[in-house]
Amino acid sequence: MADFVSSSYTKLRDVINETSNDALPPVSSIVAATKSLPAFFSPMGLGEEATQAHLLSDICPGFNGPKTSANYYGFVTGGVFPIAEVADNIVTAFDQNVQVHLPNQSISTIVEGKALEMVVELLRLGKGWDGRTFTTGATGSNILGLACGREAVVKMRLEKVGEQAGPGELGLLAACSKAGIKNIQVLTTMGHSSLYKAASVVGLGRASVKEIPVSSQEPWRIDLDKLESELKLSDEGIVSIVALSAGEVNTGRFSTDGLSTMRKVRALCDRYGAWLHADGAFGLFARSLPATPEFQSLIDTAAGLELVDSLAGDCHKMLNVPYDCGVFITRSSSTLSLVFQNPNAAYLSSGPSDQPSPLNIGLENSRRFRALPVYAVLLAYGQYGLGDMFARQVRLARAVSEYLDSSDCYELLPSGQSSTNSDEQTKFSLTHIIVLFRAKNDAINEELVTNINATRKMYVSGTKWEGKPACRIAVSTWKVDVERDSELVKGVLEGVLNGTQ
Ligand SMILES: *Cc1c(COP(=O)(O)O)cnc(C)c1O
Repeated sequence: MADFVSSSYTKLRDVINETSNDALPPVSSIVAATKSLPAFFSPMGLGEEATQAHLLSDICPGFNGPKTSANYYGFVTGGVFPIAEVADNIVTAFDQNVQVHLPNQSISTIVEGKALEMVVELLRLGKGWDGRTFTTGATGSNILGLACGREAVVKMRLEKVGEQAGPGELGLLAACSKAGIKNIQVLTTMGHSSLYKAASVVGLGRASVKEIPVSSQEPWRIDLDKLESELKLSDEGIVSIVALSAGEVNTGRFSTDGLSTMRKVRALCDRYGAWLHADGAFGLFARSLPATPEFQSLIDTAAGLELVDSLAGDCHKMLNVPYDCGVFITRSSSTLSLVFQNPNAAYLSSGPSDQPSPLNIGLENSRRFRALPVYAVLLAYGQYGLGDMFARQVRLARAVSEYLDSSDCYELLPSGQSSTNSDEQTKFSLTHIIVLFRAKNDAINEELVTNINATRKMYVSGTKWEGKPACRIAVSTWKVDVERDSELVKGVLEGVLNGTQ
């Protein structure tokens, strides 16, 4: 059996090495892979050898290239560091169930604890984050954030009427009715779609998510006056969770512009009893950039996030570990366990311990050891190595922005960013890893994303900006090479204008 697995890994390496570096496979490979699927579920089974050959020769050629290509700029996918791939294979090989903290039986929860501690350090968040866990991604982390927010804001009101239990125990309807709460709203600016999903999952409803931007020109920025007037509704029984976008997915911009604004938001949340959550899926890692003038504006923008109650982050994006892995951290471990306590299961008890069992602080009971690839990456690269990768990603995004801004045919979005600063060097100082743009010619713009992706040399996401189609590049792989990749991107963008691609 062991020989079968190791020879399969060797063959897998060969398949990966032979895979082209294109961002997308030829459509014909996907068609062929689809045709190779069995017409029906055979009761006999193929056997492991034949199945292995099928997976490697038929299925693998049908995959797209976030892992193998340096130029897959869709969504924010990240790649996979070699050491993360090794660690993930170890995870699979040993199949640890990281559910109950059993320090005398497995090192797994102890490693998970160490990895979480290192993530907090990488993000320069300081002390006091004693509620922390790995999740399946930022969607999972946003669900945890809203669930904690819901527990905390309702419980605060219940305590005023002498009730000690919270909604985790009583149920949302009974708890709100007892507390005199009519509604719980989620205040945000350009909240990620998963925030709406999270609102539905935790029983607040997608309609509870309210956008409070300063203006339609800067829809990602939160309006502090609107925030205060919404928070004041607590007098009328409408309580709030504030969910900041710490890296909005279309633009990479933040709801707040730094420490001083964050302090104001924090003070307002404290005054009116609101929970403060931030979705920093990829934007959070702006905090880990090298502290040099080149990145100072970004670091300043992301400052103050250490003041929130809870934070959502993704590891399968910027940290380049395989899917799926996100992180959730909160200052209130008690709130986290009030929601996620898995009660009345004596056989799942870990005994007295300094570390909570993961099953009591997150969604799942049985869990994959997804901490190990994160641990491996942090250990292998350290703060400096990762900072260097983040820097290269930002430089590529800025180089592409520079090209688009100087082009007659493309328009860099959101508009106005190059005119806000006359100093050439700091022109794109707020550009993180995302570049949003469109073609000035509407007809070209309509087909732009399709035509870029049809080259299969690079892959971009389509989105809408100010009601019109727009194109979005997200740089998130460790494979980034500023010179090589900016040439490729410019070549493709020129080519689709000239119709030569
Ligand atoms: C990607 C992303 C999410 C969702 O994360 P998943 O990893 O897909 O669950 C949430 N918020 C932001 C800002 C994102 O970029």
